[in-house]
Amino acid sequence: MSYDSSNVFAKILRGEIPCKKVYEDDFALAFNDINPQAPTHVLVIPKGPYTTYDDFVSSADDAEIAGFHRAVLHVITAAEIAAGGYRLISNSGVEAHQEVQHYHVHVLGGRDLGAMLNAPE
Ligand code: 5GP
Repeated sequence: MSYDSSNVFAKILRGEIPCKKVYEDDFALAFNDINPQAPTHVLVIPKGPYTTYDDFVSSADDAEIAGFHRAVLHVITAAEIAAGGYRLISNSGVEAHQEVQHYHVHVLGGRDLGAMLNAPE
């Protein structure tokens, strides 16, 4: 899958559409999900043009990979969800129902998040 810079997160990075920013540094931007599924539901995105987890880890340099994960940790710490528990989700590709084709991690917490997946059909 090649990167398409018309995706909505690329537009957020370029400042073309607004977001509720919770953290930003040289490597990542974190903002509240527009359709939150938990009291804390933050999306963390790298600043570079990566489509999926596998694209990011295989293509980004070490500083980007480390910086991105430190940004995720910053969000977890700032939201004070580590003690109660939290979940990281990265939907990648068709079968995972990835909606936005810019790599992102969902940080979810602040309530009992239930089982990891719905029961198989
Ligand atoms: P995915 O299925 O790709 O992992 O999830 C994409 C997420 O992006 C969804 O949870 C959706 O609510 C969120 N989202 C989609 N468009 C926007 C937007 O314009 N702004 C924000 N803040 N979140 C968005």
